[in-house]
Amino acid sequence: MVDSFRHKGLRKQLVEHLASKGISNLEVLNAMNKIPRHLFMDNAFVNFAYQDKAFPIGSGQTISQPYTVAFQSQLLQIKPYEKVLEVGTGSGYQAAVLTLLEADVYTIERQRELFVKTKKFLPSLGYKCMFVYGDGYKGMPNFAPFDKIIITCGAPFIPEDLVAQLKVGGRMVAPIGGGDEQVMHLIEKISDTETRITTHGEFSFVPMLNDKNNGN
Ligand code: SAH
Repeated sequence: MVDSFRHKGLRKQLVEHLASKGISNLEVLNAMNKIPRHLFMDNAFVNFAYQDKAFPIGSGQTISQPYTVAFQSQLLQIKPYEKVLEVGTGSGYQAAVLTLLEADVYTIERQRELFVKTKKFLPSLGYKCMFVYGDGYKGMPNFAPFDKIIITCGAPFIPEDLVAQLKVGGRMVAPIGGGDEQVMHLIEKISDTETRITTHGEFSFVPMLNDKNNGN
């Protein structure tokens, strides 16, 4: 698992590109400048790791586009020690970013294969979080409430169970929409019964599917 000068150089260029596209949070940019994204991808795609594109990670899933990761991370406004729930562990790249932002990360994945692979892989790079195999629609009631929640797959609607697991004052960032395109939503919980919802542009995610699955 090599992180060469070439990888580091390409990564710096990617981060400069993200800044030029409007990502201004320095902690997010610094985190992405540190994480060897090429190690999160299948060998065949390693040469593309520092392009601003999504790529296949096996089991029919993708590692999100770097701009999308940066955008969602920025919108979350993570502060150190906050408890963050991520829906859709996938390759673990987004979870690594959250960990470097010093969050206490709980990540849930419904694909057994990816769950097993990433639970082993991420700690091998030194990123520690809590991995759960389960259905993101249900969240993690045992570990709730959370300061922040991030959904990294396209949800057809805002999952109510997740809003319930958010602290008052907390923020949830979720791409909402059932088709090929989703609209990024920021859901701020302003009281036990009220939320403020704002939208933040269109993105494209793999779908958030129902329940856990042993195969696809
Ligand atoms: N955060 C990931 C993105 C992976 S793509 C990364 O940085 O690589 C989205 C992931 O969401 C896929 O791995 C998919 O299996 C998972 N997913 C889809 N529906 C889900 C659900 N209901 N609960 C948990 N994970 C889900």
